[in-house]
Amino acid sequence: MAAPSPNLELRPLGNTGLKVSSVGFGAAPLGRVFGPVSEDEAIASVREAFRRGINFFDTSPYYGGTLSEKMLGKGLKALGVPRNEYVVSTKCGRYIEGFDFSAERVTRSIDESLERLQLDYVDILQCHDIEFGSLDQIVNETIPALQKLKEARKIRFIGITGLPLGIFTYVLDQVPPGTVDVILSYCHYSINDSTLEDLLPYLKSKGVGIISASPLAMGLLTENGPPEWHPASPELKSVCQAAAAYCKEKGKSITKLAMQYSLSNKDISSVLVGMNSVGQVEENVTAAIELAKFGKDQETLAEIEAILSPVKNQTWPSGIQKS
Ligand code: NAD
Repeated sequence: MAAPSPNLELRPLGNTGLKVSSVGFGAAPLGRVFGPVSEDEAIASVREAFRRGINFFDTSPYYGGTLSEKMLGKGLKALGVPRNEYVVSTKCGRYIEGFDFSAERVTRSIDESLERLQLDYVDILQCHDIEFGSLDQIVNETIPALQKLKEARKIRFIGITGLPLGIFTYVLDQVPPGTVDVILSYCHYSINDSTLEDLLPYLKSKGVGIISASPLAMGLLTENGPPEWHPASPELKSVCQAAAAYCKEKGKSITKLAMQYSLSNKDISSVLVGMNSVGQVEENVTAAIELAKFGKDQETLAEIEAILSPVKNQTWPSGIQKS
């Protein structure tokens, strides 16, 4: 395996001491969440990602009912490189059978994940979509259980993920500093929704690493459009499709524009994009490298922002709490 390309920027992840690639590999698509993908293509995508400088890989037992973790595990093993050359995050508390953030379940969960990933430890274990649980249980039971997993060296860092931004302030205001190392927000720093931006100063003041996922808004900002299960309103879907069609007509790539938009904010340590083919890896890494060399395509971006303005910052409900 060739050494990772020096061209893809590495950014510090909060106070963890880790340096993660600006483009992170989202492995949800390896669980066939976004359509079919063969095992060979999954392994080849992971290989191509690492070869092009991506060192950060994110998965969950929930994605494809454990399939994503298994596929990622095979892909990472096939790299044949020392374990400290890549950073792996997985999650706990959300499963195909439902949610369970109890200490007992998350403690068992990491052992199951490590087996599927064929690893001795993960760098980050994140409580997955905590708005579906009791946030007080997350603070008082789940996170303390994860601290024990840290002591047992099964995980290095603790994270929380979810959609409503209020969950992050709720938890971070209650736990002692340094307890939660990273947060993962999704669908809130892309061209159609940039509401994470207002929270960045607070998150930085707490010293947490900031991961922003779904720069393509889970497929809304792609030519093929989103999968069936996408929770956006019909209006949001149709306006995003109009934006994608406009780009195509102009000979521009909506995915490149969207990647570059999310990558531009350096307070975000890594932009996690879901990928399931060698071609997508190549395109998304190239978008980052071209951004560093040439900057954003301001003209097309302004046109796309104008098309998206009627739905700017429109989101959808998630979880059992009010955000
Ligand atoms: P995304 O916005 O990254 O979009 C993924 C979709 O875009 C897939 O269909 C993928 O095949 C396609 N795609 C990627 N690159 C493309 C390209 N160059 N051209 C055309 N299509 C392209 O959405 P996502 O996968 O949901 O989010 C990224 C990752 O972030 C996930 O895989 C997961 O690891 C993580 N994530 C975590 C949470 C959470 O913890 N709650 C939520 C969402 C995402």
